[in-house]
Amino acid sequence: MNSTELITKAAQEHNLIESELYQILTDSQIDDILFAAADRTRKKYVGDEVHLRALIEFTNICKNQCLYCGLQCQNKKIERYRLDPETIISLAQKAVQYGYKTIVLQGGEDPFFTADILVPILQKIKSFGLAITLSIGERSTEDYRAFKQAGADRFLLRIETTDKTLYEKYNPAMSFENRLRCLQDLKQLGYEVGTGILVGLPGQTMQSLAKDILFFKELNADMIGLGPFIPNPDTPLKNAPKPLLTPALKVMALTRLLLPDINIPATTAMETIEPNGRLRALQAGANVVMPNVTEGTARLNYALYPGKACAGEDPSHCRGCLTAKLAAIGRPVSTGYGFHKKKI
Ligand code: SAH
Repeated sequence: MNSTELITKAAQEHNLIESELYQILTDSQIDDILFAAADRTRKKYVGDEVHLRALIEFTNICKNQCLYCGLQCQNKKIERYRLDPETIISLAQKAVQYGYKTIVLQGGEDPFFTADILVPILQKIKSFGLAITLSIGERSTEDYRAFKQAGADRFLLRIETTDKTLYEKYNPAMSFENRLRCLQDLKQLGYEVGTGILVGLPGQTMQSLAKDILFFKELNADMIGLGPFIPNPDTPLKNAPKPLLTPALKVMALTRLLLPDINIPATTAMETIEPNGRLRALQAGANVVMPNVTEGTARLNYALYPGKACAGEDPSHCRGCLTAKLAAIGRPVSTGYGFHKKKI
């Protein structure tokens, strides 16, 4: 089958094998056909509404050494911060006032935030009527259980790459098996589970990206977040090639075709490497945006990669700016929680 026929098949059957995914990923002639198909599938399964998730980056302290990430513990160039519980709670309260229905608590793997510290924060935020997503890395099964009981609904933990050798090369303090264990735990505990990858890591192949997409399907993920890898000058991967948007959009569009009813964010990394990269993503399969509601210096110091889009803005500006941009492409902001509704 040619690539256009494969895309039509994927839009009907929501299945492709690895060699078919590889063919589409390596065919540069069909990008627009692929994006249009993913856009139609998005509209058919999850509609035009865009779910906004307010992101609080509550600590940039991290015990890990991920070679691609600016938060890794060996980076002495960033100013470290940790928001205190009152500040986190007050940012969540403000998010409610801006009209958000979901709060995402994201951070480095900061040993300060034990379950004893986090549980009361989650309980308080839950009492505001918000859905809670956590993105705080690898924890014990008991911690994940405690967070769920305290009110966490969803968890984002990117697998980053399903190539185990590459994963362990770039995450020297971590094991691929433990990452998988965490994702399985989260599923079993009843979280909506989000995972995803970095696209464009040095040494990552198209074959490996095809396998990543099949992994998302195998995991039966509720959410997939992915973006281009952006080299950070303060990390060992500083000399990696310039990031490209198209490969990330292609992986995202194929993910929409294979998992048609899930939530897929248009990520900040996409916006960072191309103005309006997020809007392009929303027209190629995405249905979620995660505006940053962190304030002040913390917002500037959560430096995963350089030039992060909207880092210099303030949260109230972001809400208005985004709503207008979304309206311009005919996409209303959802007023609901935007939980994953399974349709296939
Ligand atoms: N500690 C949490 C949150 C990590 S930050 C966890 O382990 O899940 C969230 C995501 O930022 C990471 O999963 C990674 O995919 C992404 N990221 C890190 N460094 C990046 C870079 N240089 N370019 C693009 N994305 C990056």
